[in-house]
Amino acid sequence: MGITAGKQSMYDDIARLALAIHDHSYFFSLRRGLKTSFSRDLNGSGTQGLYIKRKDDEDVSSFLITVIFGPIYGKDEEFLYEADLITDQRKDYEPTINRGKHRFGARAATIEVDWHCDEARQWRLDVARLSQSPDTLTGWLEANLEMLVRCGSRNCWHSAILSKTDLERHVAAGLTLESLREQLKCSECRKRGARVIVF
Ligand SMILES: [Zn+2]
Repeated sequence: MGITAGKQSMYDDIARLALAIHDHSYFFSLRRGLKTSFSRDLNGSGTQGLYIKRKDDEDVSSFLITVIFGPIYGKDEEFLYEADLITDQRKDYEPTINRGKHRFGARAATIEVDWHCDEARQWRLDVARLSQSPDTLTGWLEANLEMLVRCGSRNCWHSAILSKTDLERHVAAGLTLESLREQLKCSECRKRGARVIVF
């Protein structure tokens, strides 16, 4: 294979960070100035690519983090996510084929900043913080979390952020996480039933 165990685990570390940044792309866009893009069909070969760059970087070909994923077929091999495998038919000008759900692992990964620099450490702290989901409102405050509220209507997608001060106000008013969720109403379409996400 030509890949040492050490190199593969470095790929996996970078890939896990990149996938988490992608999962929380709204946060990382707003608060850390990062833009992610996920290509599910690179050159028809079944490989997928996740690219992260600074939003203010005009150079379209420079990325902070690049991860190339490929399908994994061995049962015992570690996988990082599941997704549809899309490949071409090894012929020109034929539509690509969706070959169904497959497991994907990291084939290569690069990060342009030092893994231990303050910025990369901050991203990892962000990911750890954003991965929590306390089931009480006071739990959210204790974990130092803000709240991203997203309209539950399919056609609206309006979203807003409740700051810690907002959440403190709701706790002081006696609201629980459940009652807050029930009372939130979209300012655009007036629909209730918003989704709340750690921010
Ligand atoms: Zn709405």
